[in-house]
Amino acid sequence: MHAVVGSPVVIRDNKFAVVTAPITIDGRTRELYFKASTPFVSEGIEPFVAAAFLPALTIASRFAVEAPMSARLLRNLQRITELFVCWEPERFHSVEIDATPAERTAHSGRTTAGFFSGGVDSFYTLLKHRDEITHLIFVTGFDIRLDDERLQADVLTAVRAAAAELGKPLIVVETNLRQCFDSFVSWPDHYCGAAIASVALLLSPLFHTVYVAASAGYKVLVPFGSHPLLDPLWSTEAVQIIHDGCEASRFQKVGAIAQSEVVRKTLRVCWHNTDGAYNCGSCLKCLHTMALLRAVGALESVRTFDRPLPLRSVAWEFGGHVIDPAVPSRNFVLSMEHAADHLAASGRDPALLKALRNGLAAKYERGMWAFAKGARQRIKTYGQSMLQNRMRRRVAAQGCSSKNHAPTEVS
Ligand SMILES: [Zn+2]
Repeated sequence: MHAVVGSPVVIRDNKFAVVTAPITIDGRTRELYFKASTPFVSEGIEPFVAAAFLPALTIASRFAVEAPMSARLLRNLQRITELFVCWEPERFHSVEIDATPAERTAHSGRTTAGFFSGGVDSFYTLLKHRDEITHLIFVTGFDIRLDDERLQADVLTAVRAAAAELGKPLIVVETNLRQCFDSFVSWPDHYCGAAIASVALLLSPLFHTVYVAASAGYKVLVPFGSHPLLDPLWSTEAVQIIHDGCEASRFQKVGAIAQSEVVRKTLRVCWHNTDGAYNCGSCLKCLHTMALLRAVGALESVRTFDRPLPLRSVAWEFGGHVIDPAVPSRNFVLSMEHAADHLAASGRDPALLKALRNGLAAKYERGMWAFAKGARQRIKTYGQSMLQNRMRRRVAAQGCSSKNHAPTEVS
């Protein structure tokens, strides 16, 4: 089966641009679009290559690109393939790539941007590179569904206010990328980094560098759609994509940003947004962030959480009694440990420390059982012959030793 990325078409006026291209995968053609609040968008095919490549790796044998593309990105597609085939060989496989390389020339006068969602990770990267980052990029259609217009409007208002307060122009991009390709790949596990990169490539006439905020630290890295090994591979000669912030745990990031007034007014972490809530205050991600904010003494000053932290829920939900597959759990455990260490050293908030310790104890216990279950399955699958051989050797050795020491019959 062939996957084909068609040539893009750009329509623009002096304020906006819409770029579309047909992408054919599994015999069906989808019209992928990006609408940007700037006329300065790339006419190249690279954003569409980034959007289509991973879905193609799941189903196609050939990946055809109908317009010349960045030679650097074309070379990197091989390494991107290697990563995904190594991470999930049962889902991803190599494809024959049919594309014409072109050297992309970089425009002068470009600057640096950062993707900004109003969450802990993107605030951390923004404040860390505050002097270097000149613009912020916000995407609708990624973590907020396109049809959730109320939440989209609320979040956009808050993100605009944060950008204005920090003196950074905000570029808004809307895309139907997830509607086109969510059925092929998992958003968090495979696709989020490629999707973010497609927008960075779209805005390459404006930016030579784009920061993507890391969600996990170096200590807890696992295969994930946005990863320090992966994100830079989507770069071209024109734009460098940087995965930033792996040096800090989520607790350390919360500690670094919590004193900022703009963070206190606009921090948004919720993925559930029950009943359109900005932060629902009851999902695992909200509870986790609230606990970290309380550990650094800043929860009450963050106005986007409008309810107290239920400590029982910290022990109960953090212990893993409620499973949320959207949450990378090792990352969360590390942050809880850092928060508990911080509270134990400072002697502050013993009630929160107790709740965190109870949650961690339950998490470790679950982890032990999960490890034991995994080990049992692995032995069953891979280790049986090894165990059988060991048993045989032991039996043989015992047999041999019993022979040596067997009483000699005297006739
Ligand atoms: Zn929530």
